[in-house]
Amino acid sequence: MQIAIDGPAGAGKSTIAKNLSKKLGWIYIDTGAMYRATALYCINNNIDLNNQDKIENAVIEKVDITLVYENSSQIIFLNGINVSDEIRTQEISTATSLIAKYEGIRNYLVKMQQVLASKNDVIMDGRDIGSVVLPDATLKIYLTASNEERAKRRFQEQSEKGITQSFEEVLKELNSRDKQDSEREVSPLCKAEGAVEIDTTNLDIDQIVEEIINLLNRNR
Ligand code: C5P
Repeated sequence: MQIAIDGPAGAGKSTIAKNLSKKLGWIYIDTGAMYRATALYCINNNIDLNNQDKIENAVIEKVDITLVYENSSQIIFLNGINVSDEIRTQEISTATSLIAKYEGIRNYLVKMQQVLASKNDVIMDGRDIGSVVLPDATLKIYLTASNEERAKRRFQEQSEKGITQSFEEVLKELNSRDKQDSEREVSPLCKAEGAVEIDTTNLDIDQIVEEIINLLNRNR
């Protein structure tokens, strides 16, 4: 059983996915974290993010990413080191969107994601889950929200973590990442065929989770 959730940054994907994971007892796979860990590896090793060949040579078969679940939260290991917090910075968000457009990187990570999904019932979120990673998912969801609402949520999240960034900066960063993710040639962010679109702007988390569970029960 698989629920595929796609959508732009700040649409509520991970919050909803975590809630669904708790309710259903299925594994949550945050594919954005896998791209983020890959970007962190490139930065730590001073690899030019604009050089596709160098990036692909450095990463493929060399970067090992493991997801571990503890008390229903996800810990991400990059070559054996816990990088769960380090991958959440602004610098990494921007770098991630840059390296996520490379075909070799995507193929490498998509394979890992498909192996994980073949072993468990999963809720997986990202940008290409319904279209590329799990095209036969039991249920496909495309989450959206207004630009202002998405930036508001991300701003609040950053403030809670003590990261000082203005609302305008957050909005600008989200917009430029979404543009890059939607306009890239390989596996762009899109609403997959058969996906149900939910605008989360004025809905609370419980309402959305309930709607998705109702949809799942109708689909399975
Ligand atoms: O979901 P999150 O914001 O953590 O994703 C970070 C970046 O990783 C996205 O902006 C996108 O460039 C990339 N990504 C992707 N495909 C996925 C998941 C994330 O290209 N399935």
